[in-house]
Amino acid sequence: DRALVWLRRDLRADDHAALYHALRAARQVWCVFVFDRAILDPLPRRDRRVEFIRDSLVGVDAELRALAASHGVDGAGLIVRHGQAVAEIVALARALHVQAVYASHDDEPAALTRDAAARGALAEAGVVLHTSKDHVVFEREEVLTQAGGAFSVFTPYKNAWLKKLTPFYLKAYPVARHASALAPRPPGEAGVPALEDLGFERTNLHQLKLPSGPAGAQELLDDFLGRIDRYHEARDFPAVKGPSYLSTHLRFGTVSIRRLAREAHQRMVAGQRGAEVWLSELVWRDFYHQVLHHHPHVVGHAFRPEYDRIRWAHGKAADAHFDAWCEGRTGYPLVDAAMHQINQTGYMHNRLRMVVASFLTKDLGIDWRRGEAYFALHLNDFDLAANNGGWQWAASSGCDAQPYFRIFNPVSQSQKFDPEARFIRRYLPALAKLPDKLIHAPWLARPVDLAAAGLRLGVDYPEPIVDHAEARAQTLQRYAVVKGG
Ligand code: FAD
Repeated sequence: DRALVWLRRDLRADDHAALYHALRAARQVWCVFVFDRAILDPLPRRDRRVEFIRDSLVGVDAELRALAASHGVDGAGLIVRHGQAVAEIVALARALHVQAVYASHDDEPAALTRDAAARGALAEAGVVLHTSKDHVVFEREEVLTQAGGAFSVFTPYKNAWLKKLTPFYLKAYPVARHASALAPRPPGEAGVPALEDLGFERTNLHQLKLPSGPAGAQELLDDFLGRIDRYHEARDFPAVKGPSYLSTHLRFGTVSIRRLAREAHQRMVAGQRGAEVWLSELVWRDFYHQVLHHHPHVVGHAFRPEYDRIRWAHGKAADAHFDAWCEGRTGYPLVDAAMHQINQTGYMHNRLRMVVASFLTKDLGIDWRRGEAYFALHLNDFDLAANNGGWQWAASSGCDAQPYFRIFNPVSQSQKFDPEARFIRRYLPALAKLPDKLIHAPWLARPVDLAAAGLRLGVDYPEPIVDHAEARAQTLQRYAVVKGG
């Protein structure tokens, strides 16, 4: 009747499936988070996500203490370890003499391997590993076609998802009611370490509008619920506060997906268009998770195999183009501003993720996997399923992707979605004085206009590294190999 809850991408105590199951089953329950050396060691020493996790754990620790204290239990709190995840969990399970470990499903291939190893090692110690759904509303085989197969097109998936949805699936797990089983932290077990103790340095996280932990998620949610009714109109304009900015919280589970889906669904049923469109984005999230579950080959390979026949640009010139893309020096202002956004903040607006991914694959002819890896390293909200889905969508190789002959024009995207160039000016001050009608394509400006804006093209801001019309023609040729399946 002793249990351990192993937190991973579910960093909260409220509405928590694994914690609830443990509290129901055992009389003494501890919670642990392991900073896994296998994940942390290869990272650069400044990583906003490590800092976000560390700060969030402080919040989880406080939530656990408060929950236990409300039942008269003092000294409860999160146990935190730093080492090889499986070895730490097994050692802790032995030390605490637990019969069971509870955790949430994580369907990323590396996590599945880790959990299989943990299950085996725990079994040797006589401990059972119980895992359950927490991260998504529907997972794995829960939403299938009538023939019993996996969906590969979003709209019918979404219709089946909505049809299956009943209040049961969005109900919160009432953790507080059972929290009397939370046990004091054993003497000698460490709580949340300082960032420096983990071998990491501070980033600019605290200067960003990304408060951490369950309390940070609540703050962002409260703000978003005040404007969710306008989401459908505002979401595509990067200069506007349109989206929720909750992606990092969803990634690390500092907020419950059931809570968010409930808020959206209620408003949708009441006829709110913004909430309906936002719920649809949460369904995309589930969609890509089930794609990864059913088709794990998408990690490293095109969803549609014929797209692996494409010969991407490579060699010195392609490397130079890739560097220019990473550093925001392509000469296309919207692309460059977007790359400055991800480099400076770890966030990029959804519309811009589509624009820069299209630019890399279809203007520069560079393999989507290189862009995917760059995003994986830099995005605060990096999520394998969503990132891979997004990249394969843009490269046209994915499940329900954009057709390959649809190629975004980076200038018209800019004129349409940043018409007053407020976003561009925020990240590219060198262009700030160009008038609205010239700023989207500075190379078309007359010398007199450039001079008036104090801009020396090729000095203060680069000339375009490719010609979009030429690149478009080359891309259509490059993609011709996919015809005929
Ligand atoms: P909101 O508009 O408020 O959306 C709410 C939530 O819905 C998001 O937080 C996210 O969890 C989910 N969501 C929204 N759009 C999508 C989508 N297209 N696919 C899956 N889930 C979605 N999202 C990630 O969470 N992690 C990634 O690593 C990631 N990589 C991407 C890469 C590319 C090339 C593209 C085109 C998209 C990617 N997305 C990714 C999806 C989307 O861009 C982000 O989820 C969104 O911009 C996050 O901002 P937000 O929370 O303010 O979004």
